[in-house]
Amino acid sequence: MHDLSRRKLLKATAAVGAGAVAFPGLLSGGTPGFAADDLGWPSSEKCPPATLTGRIVRPQDPGYANASLGWDELFVRYPLVIVFAQETQDVVNALTWARQHNVALRVRSGRHSLEGWSNVDNGIVIDVSELKSVQIDTTARIATVGAGLNQLEAVTALGEHDLAVTTGTEGSVGLSGATLGGGFGFLTRYLGMACDNLIGAEIVVPWGADGAKAVQVDLKNHSDLLWALRGAGNGNFGIVTSLTYRAAPLRSVAYLQATWPGLDDLQEVFDAWQRLAPFADNRLGTQVEIHKSQILLFGVLADGSEAEATALLAPVLSIGDPEVTVQTGGWGDIYAGFQIPTEDEPANWKFFSQFTRRPFPKEAISVIHTFMQNAPSEDSNFFTQAFGTGAQTREPLGGAAFPHRDALFYSEPGAGWGTRGVPDSGDALTPVAQAWIAEFSQALRPYVDGAYVNVPNVGMAEWETAYWGSHFDRLRKVKAKYDPHNVFQYEQSIPPAAC
Ligand SMILES: Cc1cc2nc3c(=O)[nH]c(=O)nc-3n(C[C@H](O)[C@H](O)[C@H](O)COP(=O)(O)OP(=O)(O)OC[C@H]3O[C@@H](n4cnc5c(N)ncnc54)[C@H](O)[C@@H]3O)c2cc1C
Repeated sequence: MHDLSRRKLLKATAAVGAGAVAFPGLLSGGTPGFAADDLGWPSSEKCPPATLTGRIVRPQDPGYANASLGWDELFVRYPLVIVFAQETQDVVNALTWARQHNVALRVRSGRHSLEGWSNVDNGIVIDVSELKSVQIDTTARIATVGAGLNQLEAVTALGEHDLAVTTGTEGSVGLSGATLGGGFGFLTRYLGMACDNLIGAEIVVPWGADGAKAVQVDLKNHSDLLWALRGAGNGNFGIVTSLTYRAAPLRSVAYLQATWPGLDDLQEVFDAWQRLAPFADNRLGTQVEIHKSQILLFGVLADGSEAEATALLAPVLSIGDPEVTVQTGGWGDIYAGFQIPTEDEPANWKFFSQFTRRPFPKEAISVIHTFMQNAPSEDSNFFTQAFGTGAQTREPLGGAAFPHRDALFYSEPGAGWGTRGVPDSGDALTPVAQAWIAEFSQALRPYVDGAYVNVPNVGMAEWETAYWGSHFDRLRKVKAKYDPHNVFQYEQSIPPAAC
């Protein structure tokens, strides 16, 4: 149980009185020239007054603090109400209610937003994490799942049928949040981005003057919205309540982990990895994680043997004297096996995302070496994921808003510090870690190009093109069509196109 201070709670609720709803001016007035949409409801039509339904948690309820807190405890927010939807109609009601009461809203699934943007002071959080349905057509290899599954639940459910879609590596991350922003992991070079595997969705969008409506999105219906959800769907257009994926057969994987003590081999290991891993057999996905006192290499070879995985990575493994372990197993079991329980992770995190199109020169690797030697904690790390010639180079049928198809690799410096359970504690390491991330990412600027919306960079100039390249203008048009009044807005949300 996390105990939010009474002072903060009072501050959050004082402005409104517990349960009060009048928040004039929190939402913008609308975009002239964009008359509603093609969803069949005139823009002037009003809905009957909505009532909140589902599991509702308000500030005076005993579970409020836990219900509000996200994975990254650096960010503590005090929402007016949290609605845990039990069915799509609860989401429709919540969005309508938010519009009718002019209350700021945020959408939440796995709570791993790295800037706390899935929560909001004095607003409504519409949380889909209890929508846990799973339907798998094993013959057609099509899976439709509730938007509340986390990645471990999705990998496990599909793994039971020897099927897989791409997900990120951390099981507790929401499948929704990861997929809607792109989603990469060990299977990216084999199966493309998570969003490339997405072939449909149910999404609740604003409708009429003050209402909401669930629409089905696929390659034939609202295909422009499907395109946008494939890489730009996080809290921008509506609330996704279910996701439909085309899954691939995957019987087993070989999982390799290599550990080099210290950072003495960093130049050689990193250079060998960046010249090999992005161009290797597409079944091979790899990550490098550099800590203060060790270098870790992780590899997953889809439908491959331990010997094959070791042979493919031999040029890297032959450097220095790494400790190497390899095992084979079902993807669901291997994936579950490398999870770290959230309670064992630091409370606070700060990341900076970046893509790279050319190999890092020696100077860039030296920058990593210097910063990692001076990292604020052992949990802090420099993380990379190989892209290169893999399946993610090909857009799916219907296209995708995710743009970074020609990246050699993704990377991010990440600082992790503090003890869980005491959010907003004023940890002395907080300013040190924040400064370290800012300086580290600045020092790498000459060598990187583009950023990842799922790991947002606060304060970045031209974040719009850094996340979506030339797709940004089209995204604004899709936004104007489905959310012309800009109901879904946050610090780096997509504004509707002006006419
Ligand atoms: C420890 C850790 C490891 C990670 N590893 C990877 C990785 O390997 N690969 C990778 O690609 N990414 C990775 N990420 C980034 C991750 O993909 C994002 O943090 C993701 O957005 C989290 O989604 P969520 O549902 O858990 O978070 P939330 O905080 O619930 O939501 C994140 C964003 O998505 C929006 N959103 C959530 N659900 C919906 C919905 N149903 N409809 C519309 N919008 C919605 C929210 O409004 C918010 O903007 C990692 C993050 C963390 C913290």
